[in-house]
Amino acid sequence: MEKKYVKILLPAILAPLAILFHYQKSMFGDVVFLLIIVFFVCWIYRGQNLIIIPRSSNLKRKTTKIKTIKIPTIKSSQPEPSIAKEAAEEIVKNLQQKNYMILTDKEKGAHWDKIITDMDLEIKRIISIASIGASNPTNILVFLPENEDYRLRAVISENNCVKNNVLIEKGVGFIGATIKNLGTESILLNNIDQSREISYMKEQGLIRSMIIAPVIAVRSAGFLIADKTVQNGFTFEDSKKLEETGKVIGNMLYHAYLSEQQKIKMEESDALRFIVSDFVKSANSGEILDKMLKTVELFLKPDRVTISVCENENSAKIYRASGHESEQFINMQFNPSNRETIVGLLYQDHWETVHEFSQKRYQFRYDENEKSAGNKFKSYYGIPISVNTSKGLIFLESFQQDGFSQNEINRVSEILQTVCIILYKTQNLEKQEELAIRDGLTGLYNKRQFQVLLKTTFTRSKRLINSRSSSGRVEQEISPLALVMCDIDHFKKLNDTHGHQFGDEVLKKVSKTLDTSIRTDVDYAARYGGEEFAIILFGIEPSAAYETIDRIRKTVASIEFKSPKGEKVRTSMSFGIAMYNKDAEREDELISKADEALYRSKHGGRNMVSMYSSEY
Ligand code: GH3
Ligand code: MG
Ligand code: MG
Repeated sequence: MEKKYVKILLPAILAPLAILFHYQKSMFGDVVFLLIIVFFVCWIYRGQNLIIIPRSSNLKRKTTKIKTIKIPTIKSSQPEPSIAKEAAEEIVKNLQQKNYMILTDKEKGAHWDKIITDMDLEIKRIISIASIGASNPTNILVFLPENEDYRLRAVISENNCVKNNVLIEKGVGFIGATIKNLGTESILLNNIDQSREISYMKEQGLIRSMIIAPVIAVRSAGFLIADKTVQNGFTFEDSKKLEETGKVIGNMLYHAYLSEQQKIKMEESDALRFIVSDFVKSANSGEILDKMLKTVELFLKPDRVTISVCENENSAKIYRASGHESEQFINMQFNPSNRETIVGLLYQDHWETVHEFSQKRYQFRYDENEKSAGNKFKSYYGIPISVNTSKGLIFLESFQQDGFSQNEINRVSEILQTVCIILYKTQNLEKQEELAIRDGLTGLYNKRQFQVLLKTTFTRSKRLINSRSSSGRVEQEISPLALVMCDIDHFKKLNDTHGHQFGDEVLKKVSKTLDTSIRTDVDYAARYGGEEFAIILFGIEPSAAYETIDRIRKTVASIEFKSPKGEKVRTSMSFGIAMYNKDAEREDELISKADEALYRSKHGGRNMVSMYSSEY
């Protein structure tokens, strides 16, 4: 039975049983009842992946709860654009292991609230000193902002008449209305009418004098109250003293905020440094792009993200795409100067702010032929990147109206710009490596690389043969490797008649035909010498090798070239095939056997395929 049915059926059977037992006053029923509740809670919260990161200092330890990094869940239905997704996952894993922390703006807000809570004890100490200085008030209370209102955070009370945890709404009630007029100076009220409702008191009509002093810290301001049960309880000096106390509390909160800001910044820069160093370790440019995608997903949580880079003014390609209906964008080629599309406009004007999609009609992202996603997405953002002189864009889309925070984008953008330098250097290196193994004219592998490829294919073939004989199976007709040597017929004459440049064109076209006629990443075609080529076919039967090569022979012979003088010209090729391990045991031996077969084709009249061994 499938897991999900068990999840539904199990509680469905157990719940009535539990209720039954419960009403029969059975302990068993109560236990089952409890278990079902626990089961449901676990079920509801499954897969939420909140990872709490422990930290070291005292202040940090107190604030553990909100330090979370949410891991984006990878939807299994999504196609896999990546060749190195696992490496990208490493970033997330390593970030957790190393206790690095990057908070979102919302989390920072919560963090600040937590600091204030941690400060409550310190505030209480300050007001206990202040109470001595301010002509012994009955109560002394500190209110600090909570959303739009003010919450009682610390209190020292002589008569225990103050309610716990009171909230004062701005403009509501006697105090709410009074604090609306509170500026930077304190308010002294020495004759409060007994009918006034003092909302923080359990009993009314007691408080007759009051000082309200402001507490100013960062953007948020709270206030401090000292009261007495007698009229004219406070002097002007008392109100000034309380004003000073307010300033001390404000300053303390401000400094706590600054030092926490500093800590967050340091941790962030540590995390950024760590991420960048992780990018440096990437094996290739594909892995870097995967990690870029993962970083963006991790920190900005878009509902869809696409990464494109311009090839020239009018052509760009999408290298990575992930999220809602992103499949259609993978490897898509588009025009970055098409102003009819959002990405085209972003490429042209580079506006770096959060924008809203029109909810009236679908706006094309990349191309007028793309599939409409309807009005599901509400906002978008384009992060411009530059890969050396090429422009690139990371296009983020969100289901939320105000889906991205500028601050968070700036931070991620900072990492990405550095990463782009790494990406460019890696791509450059890859290009140079590619140049070293390719033939300049035809783009096929050169002779040196052919030798490397033959060696590795030989090793793979040997393993195949060994595993076959150890499994005790009778050797089948499949020879693991076919080596083909081939040569263009009468190429000297073609050069002499139509010129060397035309000869080059023929070489290029023939090479392309060879390359596209074989299996990618399994077979290899190389330029062995002037107009001579070598082909490696891996894991192939002799008859299939013959058929494949004869098909290539026919294709080459059917190509119609146009000479510089406009004449129709055709060419042909001769081929020789030798099989490993039937015809030869060693690499050099295999080459010479294939050569021998080629020689036979030449002598047999050219434009033909010969197998070294006629047994097949
Ligand atoms: P066969 O059918 O016996 O192979 O005759 P062939 O004329 O093709 O053979 P040969 O070896 O006599 O001539 C090969 C010619 O290929 C000579 C050389 O000028 C020409 N060649 C070699 N490399 C290049 C090249 O890169 N470009 C051009 N255009 N010609 C080349
Ligand atoms: Mg030739
Ligand atoms: Mg030749």
